[in-house]
Amino acid sequence: MSTEYNGYVTAERIEGDDAGPLAGRTVAVKDNISTEGVPTTCGSAMLAEYAPPYDATVVERLTDAGATIPGKTNMDEFGMGTTTETSAHGPTENPAAPGHVPGGSSGGSAAVVAAGDADMALGTDTGGSIRCPAAFCGVVGIKPTYGLVSRYGLVAYANSLEQIGPIAPTVEAAAELLDVIAGPDEHDATTRDNEGAVDGLADAADGDVEGLSIGVPTELIEGADEAVVETFWDAIDDLEAQGANYHEVTLPSLEHAVEAYYVIAMSEASSNLARFDGVRYGQSGGHEGNWNESFANAREKGFGEEVKRRILLGTYALSAGYHDKYYRKAQDARAWVKQDFDEALDEADVLASPTMPVPPMEMGESLDDPLQMYLADANTTPVNLANLPAISVPAGKTDDGLPVGLQLVGPAFGEETLVRAGSALA
Ligand code: GLN
Repeated sequence: MSTEYNGYVTAERIEGDDAGPLAGRTVAVKDNISTEGVPTTCGSAMLAEYAPPYDATVVERLTDAGATIPGKTNMDEFGMGTTTETSAHGPTENPAAPGHVPGGSSGGSAAVVAAGDADMALGTDTGGSIRCPAAFCGVVGIKPTYGLVSRYGLVAYANSLEQIGPIAPTVEAAAELLDVIAGPDEHDATTRDNEGAVDGLADAADGDVEGLSIGVPTELIEGADEAVVETFWDAIDDLEAQGANYHEVTLPSLEHAVEAYYVIAMSEASSNLARFDGVRYGQSGGHEGNWNESFANAREKGFGEEVKRRILLGTYALSAGYHDKYYRKAQDARAWVKQDFDEALDEADVLASPTMPVPPMEMGESLDDPLQMYLADANTTPVNLANLPAISVPAGKTDDGLPVGLQLVGPAFGEETLVRAGSALA
């Protein structure tokens, strides 16, 4: 199934079992999640011809649960972007805001859900890539606690930060999908056996926020677009009217989160993407007999501009002499962010902010200024640094009709609270 907004990059159907909790439903899968024998390109020319020899654990769990996978969805190349415009397959348009980007990097997944071309979808979130497109397309997205969902078969971008998670039209449907994919996996040693943490998660979507305590970090409001902030406060008022209460908190470390995130993400990416050399993985670089030229040629042809930039910067940050100056400092900032979140979550059940500080950008205006694009991740990246769960639910629209998302952050394995609170809005 192709779409006029370019949501799918491969339309091969993968049929699920007859019975199971997701029987009869379609779940689109982001193109960096391995599907046996079905192209998995990561939005990159490097992997244009790659079809994995095995299924990711989450894909196995989907088909075992009866879901049908209608296709693989478009994404920023290797997950590097906030708009789905760095894809080698061309950009995806936002079905909920024509002429605008769907957010990224899981833009295809959010777009096919928003357009009704899949019942639900899987995305991946390294620094916001589930929550940003969910917010921009007016749907729900959950970034699970690190270790809740197996990453086996996910093509790694920055593995200490990322998780696979659900995108769906409602909180209840997102919770149902998370129920199916969550849980320990012998193929991924970072998964945790957190008995019952998310069992029957969909039942928690009862909208009961009586007595819920919400902390609002002022750092995540300052600097956000006025129309976004207005819509955000309307949603908080709505929660308050339903019995929740809120207070403002300050988390000084958050000012440094985007910088720390990009140093760590690029460093990990420079190591993870070393396997794409045309020999182990990727399109061959030719030049028989001279491996140096062959590798260089494969990478020159196979990678787009943003991916090259990040590999270069990541390699630089990890190199002898600069390691202490950049990478070590970023790790210190990461520990500080974790500590700030833990303290704030001692005094509140959840923390709330706009998911994105800006409404969806117009198509074609973001790639010229990478730094500006990185800053748009100010509210989402801290959560990945702290390995915490977060949900983005639709908060409303700006006067111009652009969707705005509300982000709720919870304690580790506190998905149930996020689902309960989020379902009061969507
Ligand atoms: N926009 C962020 C980045 O480019 C987040 C991407 C993601 O979560 N995969 O790194």
